[in-house]
Amino acid sequence: MQKVVIIGAGASGLISAIYAAKNNNQVIILERNNNCGKKLLLTGNGKCNYWNTNQDLKHYHTQNPLILNKIITKTNQQEILTFFDHIGIIPRIKNSLYYPYSNQSVSICYALLLEAELLGIKIINNFLVDKIIVKNKQFIIKSNQEEIIADKLIIATGSKANPKTGSDGNGYELVKSLNHSIIKPLPALVSLKGEENYFKKWKGIRTDVTLSLYHNENKIKEESGEIQLTDYGISGICVFNLSNVVTKLLDQKQNVKIKIDFLPYLKLSIEDLISFIDKRNQMLKKRNIGELFDSLLNYKLVNILLTESKINPKKSWNDLNNKQKKLVSQNLKQFSLKITDTNSFEKAQVCSGGVPLTEINYQTMESLKVKGLYIVGELLDVVGDCGGYNLSFAWISGMLAGKAISDN
Ligand SMILES: Cc1cc2nc3c(=O)[nH]c(=O)nc-3n(C[C@H](O)[C@H](O)[C@H](O)COP(=O)(O)OP(=O)(O)OC[C@H]3O[C@@H](n4cnc5c(N)ncnc54)[C@H](O)[C@@H]3O)c2cc1C
Repeated sequence: MQKVVIIGAGASGLISAIYAAKNNNQVIILERNNNCGKKLLLTGNGKCNYWNTNQDLKHYHTQNPLILNKIITKTNQQEILTFFDHIGIIPRIKNSLYYPYSNQSVSICYALLLEAELLGIKIINNFLVDKIIVKNKQFIIKSNQEEIIADKLIIATGSKANPKTGSDGNGYELVKSLNHSIIKPLPALVSLKGEENYFKKWKGIRTDVTLSLYHNENKIKEESGEIQLTDYGISGICVFNLSNVVTKLLDQKQNVKIKIDFLPYLKLSIEDLISFIDKRNQMLKKRNIGELFDSLLNYKLVNILLTESKINPKKSWNDLNNKQKKLVSQNLKQFSLKITDTNSFEKAQVCSGGVPLTEINYQTMESLKVKGLYIVGELLDVVGDCGGYNLSFAWISGMLAGKAISDN
């Protein structure tokens, strides 16, 4: 029997504890908060999007994709689905996204805690680990009042996104003290900011778009879906899915621009869009330009885009010269927005960066620096897109560490 300590009762910590307890090991979870799974409860707007059957690697971002490919295997994916089945979670599947049928994140959290209790796992709350010492092949894990000794240690302290949930980045210091390096953490899955005067006018509008991310003049990524226009810039799932790249570029003081296609369902070039509006203008006689776009686009947005093109929405389309028609069409299909900042760690869902995958054994999540130490979850350099990928990685990495310990 081994004494196993897990630091952090989040998604990856709870699942790793359950697997580690399977061979009569004595398992203790140390959690700084007075309750467990604080971040897990917030996920998916309280519904917990805990899995995605489309585990294509393009939905994950890391400096070491080849290693990640060996972690997110088909076998590991199947094992996680069997695990949730086994702890009684019935999924509600929307496209490829999994939620508990209750649509409540608390169902996932309670099922994990109940399983932990049944396996005799001890959870010590209000235990903030601030020091780890390795001595005689054991770990001395200290808070400012107590210390606990373990044969095996799993660090599952998360990142520094949304720090009020307890994962405030102190885990990076803990692993650094054990000779690990850290790829600079940056906010990921965040809203993007600009400095435009028209933001206060477009605040509150939601509309379907295609976003193209440009570094200097090179297009590097595209995402489609609904965006929310805000008083500081843009938000929404498709914005979040670009933000991981944006934060890295801004951190390197690079120029970042997003081109917004406000009419993504009209697959037209600028010239063809002008012809389309010409025809619409002939058909819908006596309408001003603003009225020509009725039903095509949010009317408030039409006025903003026309004003930004320096065109009075009350004018007739026939009154515009070719240059003005081109400008209107460009602002509808390729509206250019300079991105100057992102929301902070406080508002980020996850962080990029963390412990490089080159410093762990991909089969077991065991540290290649310290024997008996395991690192799991968001503390590692893996960030997933929106859609359940971050929890997917937390489950798989946690399961691998716990299993490696119980198989030992
Ligand atoms: C608002 C929001 C919505 C999200 N929605 C989704 C979603 O729907 N789907 C999805 O896949 N992902 C989602 N995520 C991301 C997902 O929640 C995280 O990636 C995942 O929870 C990370 O799990 P983890 O176990 O690595 O860390 P965490 O869940 O952050 O757990 C770490 C735990 O360690 C504890 N801890 C930290 N330091 C110490 C210490 N020194 N001593 C003791 N305890 C410590 C913390 O208190 C915390 O409980 C969302 C995130 C947020 C913020």
